[in-house]
Amino acid sequence: MRTLSIKLRVTLWYVLLMLVLIALVIGIMLASNESATLEGIEARLRSVVEENMDEVEYDHGKVDIDEDFAFNMDGVASAVYSDDQGLLAGGLPAAFDPPLAFEDGAFRVANAEGQRWGVYDRVVTSKKHRDLWVRGVTRMDAFASTSGTVLQVALIALPLWLLLAAIGGYIIAGRSFRPVEDIRQAADAIAGGHDLSRRIDLGEGSDEIHRLGETLNRMLERLEASFEVERQFTADASHELRTPTAVILSQCEYALERDRTPETQRESLEAIRQQATRMSRLIAQLLAFARMERGSGAFAPEETDISELTTFVCEDYAETSPDGAALIRAIPDGITACVDRTLYARALSNLIDNALRHGGPPISVTLSRADSAAILTVRDEGPGIDPSQLSLIWNRFYRVDAARTHDAYGHTGLGLAIVRQIMQMHGGTAEAASQPGQGSAFTLRFPVKKSRALS
Ligand code: ADP
Repeated sequence: MRTLSIKLRVTLWYVLLMLVLIALVIGIMLASNESATLEGIEARLRSVVEENMDEVEYDHGKVDIDEDFAFNMDGVASAVYSDDQGLLAGGLPAAFDPPLAFEDGAFRVANAEGQRWGVYDRVVTSKKHRDLWVRGVTRMDAFASTSGTVLQVALIALPLWLLLAAIGGYIIAGRSFRPVEDIRQAADAIAGGHDLSRRIDLGEGSDEIHRLGETLNRMLERLEASFEVERQFTADASHELRTPTAVILSQCEYALERDRTPETQRESLEAIRQQATRMSRLIAQLLAFARMERGSGAFAPEETDISELTTFVCEDYAETSPDGAALIRAIPDGITACVDRTLYARALSNLIDNALRHGGPPISVTLSRADSAAILTVRDEGPGIDPSQLSLIWNRFYRVDAARTHDAYGHTGLGLAIVRQIMQMHGGTAEAASQPGQGSAFTLRFPVKKSRALS
């Protein structure tokens, strides 16, 4: 059954149902027709025989049959018998010779000569003479022919009717399913040709299959967009890696030339070290980013005292970097949120790094608690960011001044993209506000469940 197409299965199913239904209807028709016909025959026999009874009497001891006696009327053959079954007048079909035993006023159906007969008897009694019997007999042909005709019509019409229904149903089902075939062909073409720009075109319509086509088209659009982002990412990543690789190669060749002094060789090695550091940082960030996007890295949010964690990260800067010592902290105690500790620390570090490298002092780190969010802000008073760039700085590999930021720090243009990704994973938001010349403020909002104590 599973190998049959859906349209064939649907057609077979309702043809089968129709077959059962029609068989039932014909069965009921035949049954009711038989009882109606039997009643009709009985009524005809009764009326003929009862009328004939009145035409039979004794006249001076002799049986007198009036000329109105109908020996053959309405298909009913009548005869008069004496009570010892002697035929006095009329004649019945040979099958009734010898006749059946008489039974007054009873309608009977008898089988004889391969036929069915209706029989009806009435007795004519006389005080002085012997009883007389009037018998009427009719063939059940009428019934046989009516039911036979119904059956014949049904037997010819039924297969024709079913054939018509099956062909019609098959065609309609085929038409309804044609768009599915279009969808399959389009999907095949997309899979075979890797052409994500192709769309399923089902024309006008709003039925289920058209809606399915629209949904698939929307899905293709999203797929195409995310493939484009991936493609761009790979292109950007290779571009970013190509520059330091080229610098390393050329510095190596330069240093290896024969007449290089130890001093120039040292300079080349220093340049190589810078580029290698840059590459290593880029690769580490790319890996972290790819892991986060794929969701393959461990993401383990837990209820965390982020006041403590923020203070810890800031103190770490104060200890390890000379500029970090100048960080201004406004971190009230006891603010908690459900965060992944490592990712929270990475987001905060990226913002502090940026404030130190792109911004300028004084740099402040502020933590506060609003109704349904913990808000972390890193503010600096550096050169700020042009408003036209504000939405772009979150893009991967985007740097406001790419030439300037190709420096020893190893700017990758991935820092803020990683922050945004971390915030998406936490269901939070990241925003930047800045005025050129007046510094920038980066704000992260981590959603927190309202606790009774705080609300
Ligand atoms: P990267 O720091 O590696 O260049 P980011 O994604 O962290 O990459 O930042 C993207 C760009 O946004 C930076 O190149 C810089 O131009 C700009 N930017 C980020 N933070 C600041 C800031 N605090 N002040 C001024 N510009 C900033």
